[in-house]
Amino acid sequence: MIDMSSLMDKLDLLKSLGDSATLSDIVRALEAIAEEINSIKLTLNNLKERVDAIDSDLSSLENAVYGEIEIECPTCSITFTIPVEEVPESGILDVECPNCHNIFTINFENWGQEGTDD
Ligand SMILES: [Zn+2]
Repeated sequence: MIDMSSLMDKLDLLKSLGDSATLSDIVRALEAIAEEINSIKLTLNNLKERVDAIDSDLSSLENAVYGEIEIECPTCSITFTIPVEEVPESGILDVECPNCHNIFTINFENWGQEGTDD
């Protein structure tokens, strides 16, 4: 747990000492700041590891649930699939038909929000 209030207390103390603050007062405050920064770094590293783990779990989950998306070409009507990873966050994707090479735009904006019908 990062104790920012004690850090602020130390800085306030330094400020109140003003010109009478000694070098060791300043060094003590700097040490406290360095300690807090170190602990913030450790916390960030832990968080990063956990986010990476969640991210990779989520990817496997998405693949397991959706895997591939079936698409029908509006020109030649054949159906083909694309990997779910190819859908960008915007949900809008240009797809080239592997049969007639027509390029068309698919909007997945509401994709994933359907299927809640009883
Ligand atoms: Zn086609």
